[in-house]
Amino acid sequence: MESLIIVGNGPAGCTAAVYAARARLNPLVLTGSLPGGQLTQTTDIENYPGFPDPINGFELMTLLQRQAERFDARFSFGTLASATLVPGGSQELTLTDGVTLVARALIIATGAVPRWLGLPAEERLKGKGVTACATCDGAFYRDVPVVVIGGGDTAMEEALFLTRFASKVTVIHRRDQLRASKIMADRALAHPKIEFSWNSVVEDILGDDAVAGVRLRNVKTDVVSDLPCQGYFAALGHVPSTAPFKGQLAMDAAGYLLVEDASSRTGVPGVFAAGDCADHVYRQAVTAAGMGCRAAIDAERWLEANPA
Ligand code: NDP
Repeated sequence: MESLIIVGNGPAGCTAAVYAARARLNPLVLTGSLPGGQLTQTTDIENYPGFPDPINGFELMTLLQRQAERFDARFSFGTLASATLVPGGSQELTLTDGVTLVARALIIATGAVPRWLGLPAEERLKGKGVTACATCDGAFYRDVPVVVIGGGDTAMEEALFLTRFASKVTVIHRRDQLRASKIMADRALAHPKIEFSWNSVVEDILGDDAVAGVRLRNVKTDVVSDLPCQGYFAALGHVPSTAPFKGQLAMDAAGYLLVEDASSRTGVPGVFAAGDCADHVYRQAVTAAGMGCRAAIDAERWLEANPA
């Protein structure tokens, strides 16, 4: 039996690992299907404290993992399929490869995955022009027009990144005001290669074997029009990765885990939550890291008060 398993190795999971390992809890960290978490899919991070120059997301996560490994945290590939949580008892995790792990305490730091519009064409054309990751796929779209769907920081970041390759980037947003922070919005609005299609929703993606365009509807006028493009980048926010805990832990309507007050405690003693899976408000790397720190301290205190 493990004393502490941390599920997820984004900023929350890695920071929890640093603290738990320094507290000699010998934590086992499961990396999930996207080792390093969402930050590995971003470009430069300009707002993580301590880095006056931008740091690449992948590099930051590599450093965080190395920091935890320095104190003997163990990292293992493994994706959670299901969990059986027992209040104050042993927490059992089953991985997608059938392996079962048991721990006295558990920190859930599973993060979130990209949201899609839910169009059948998104599924059909995924990997054929439809993607949710400009950093991963942007370089395939040299000198061709692409669209980015969404009006948040991710959409602005993706649009700006794509200007390095694409001939034109059109941001399609369902409103006429951006949700993105002012600095990101201003950069995108001022960029000569970026255009905006305001008050517009995607009704369909055109193309049989590859993206050839999008069918848009203006929500104010109901006018439908086709916009040719070869890349479709969804930047619609995220959905928390909490499915294995459904019915066992309290969640809000969107699936974010609920914790007690300012702690990381879930309703199941011995089970703690940190990062984007439990935070629909801030969702920043640094806030996730802070939550990971709190979860490790909460877990350490719980293990001390509840010896095996
Ligand atoms: P957000 O939730 O902030 O934005 C999602 C966007 O997608 C919104 O503009 C939303 O529209 C739109 N959207 C959602 N669902 C639909 C739908 N069904 N149809 C059409 N449009 C839809 O997610 P982000 O990923 O952009 O950002 C998440 C967090 O990460 C934020 O806190 C952000 O600040 C942070 N972040 C910070 C970065 C940085 O600082 N460099 C970079 C990237 C992210 P609407 O606005 O109308 O709701």
